[in-house]
Amino acid sequence: MKKMEFWFVVGSQFLYGSEVLDTVAARAAEMAGTLSKVLPYPLVYKVTAKTNQEIANVVKEANYDGSCAGIITWCHTFSPSKMWINGFANLQKPYCHFATQYNREIPNEEIDMDFMNLNQAAHGDREHGFIAARLRMPRKVIAGYWQDGDVQKRIGDWMKAAVGVAVSKELKVMRFGDNMREVAVTEGDKVEVQAKLGWQVNTWPVGDLVAVMDAVTGEEIDKLMEAYRASYDFATGDMEAVRYQAREEIAMKKMMDAEGCMAFSNTFQDLHGMKQLPGLASQHLMSQGYGYGGEGDWKVSAMTAIMKAMGEGGNGASAFMEDYTYHLVKGQEYSLGAHMLEVCPSVAAGRPRIEVHPLGIGGREDPARLVFEGKAGDAIVVSLVDMGGRLRLICQDIHCVKPILPMPNLPVARVMWQAEPSLTTGVECWITAGGAHHTVLSYDVTAEQMKDWANMMDIEFVHITKDTTVESLENDLFLADLAWKLK
Ligand code: MN
Repeated sequence: MKKMEFWFVVGSQFLYGSEVLDTVAARAAEMAGTLSKVLPYPLVYKVTAKTNQEIANVVKEANYDGSCAGIITWCHTFSPSKMWINGFANLQKPYCHFATQYNREIPNEEIDMDFMNLNQAAHGDREHGFIAARLRMPRKVIAGYWQDGDVQKRIGDWMKAAVGVAVSKELKVMRFGDNMREVAVTEGDKVEVQAKLGWQVNTWPVGDLVAVMDAVTGEEIDKLMEAYRASYDFATGDMEAVRYQAREEIAMKKMMDAEGCMAFSNTFQDLHGMKQLPGLASQHLMSQGYGYGGEGDWKVSAMTAIMKAMGEGGNGASAFMEDYTYHLVKGQEYSLGAHMLEVCPSVAAGRPRIEVHPLGIGGREDPARLVFEGKAGDAIVVSLVDMGGRLRLICQDIHCVKPILPMPNLPVARVMWQAEPSLTTGVECWITAGGAHHTVLSYDVTAEQMKDWANMMDIEFVHITKDTTVESLENDLFLADLAWKLK
């Protein structure tokens, strides 16, 4: 990913005189410098804006600067907000309003009217907030002291969501084959998605992939086999099956890299000329940051790539997932997620094993795949569905556990979890909202980040939490349906 940064734009006005403005600028630069040391991306102090023109100019620059992933504004002093209208009307980058102040304490002896003139963020940030509310701008408001770790964490999380926006707007998805026949939820309006989210979703012939596979050399395969050995245990003697996966991986990576694609999909119904459905090949590509969706599901593939980029600097644990089966013992209710092959090893609790087993679907040779247990921890599952006329992003809070059964005959990677608010109510909510069987499961990215991302992308967001009831959700969905039709 290219180097991203955020711009710190501080509002003020000429009323206070040059001494105050110099102090504001010096402090803003100091704050940006200090924050850049702890935030996941640099915060670059740009300007203490005092005029309509200065604000319009910095917004114009931000819009056209490919490395600027968003702006963070703050008002050390009062900044009359009509000055911001022309700039804000053109803003095309994510925007966070940081309501903070330079000093932590009100100094008892020192405070006089000069102090009040200089330190009036409580005053200025309200005027600043009004105009964004009046303009109905998508924004994040974060309030708190700039040196506090929890506040810095929230800004950092928002930055990562904004980077998810930048990644989304340039994302290219390579489709090998179409969607699985007759499946509804993996379909969607690609033109709408490109206009809204920026995704370029296009198809390449499987025959072309096979030609690239045929041209892969033995040396290239040897090299990738070494990488497999470094990360995985071999629990198979069928080296030819593993080498075939390496051949598939190398070919898919070459084609994606040539086109600048960071996500791909394929389907077991269109493997013309391929001996194995890619398993290990797709899994190892996902571990390198590529998004993937099975059965032609380009939406989940793109979301996987975006959430992996958002989680960068964490442990990269965002994975294509599928809800498979339930454990419905009272008091021990779990979902078991897996896929027929393609679960990203970033979510593995231990060292994955390469195994070769028959695949009942697709009628091809036995594919090599990574088998492992998913790790325990709080996570989310996310599904993007096309509601016809708009996109809905559904997010559910879950708690992953060490699988309660060893399941020695299950030949695929598996993750087990408890969903909020409970398995059964959670399922009722998920189904009521229209959530897919394919999801992105992430230990890195939070629900708040996905809400921020959806807000910046101007799409509907549905969050199923410990407090959600079917009744409250049905009501929210009904009202959202009306609201989105009016938008
Ligand atoms: Mn599937």
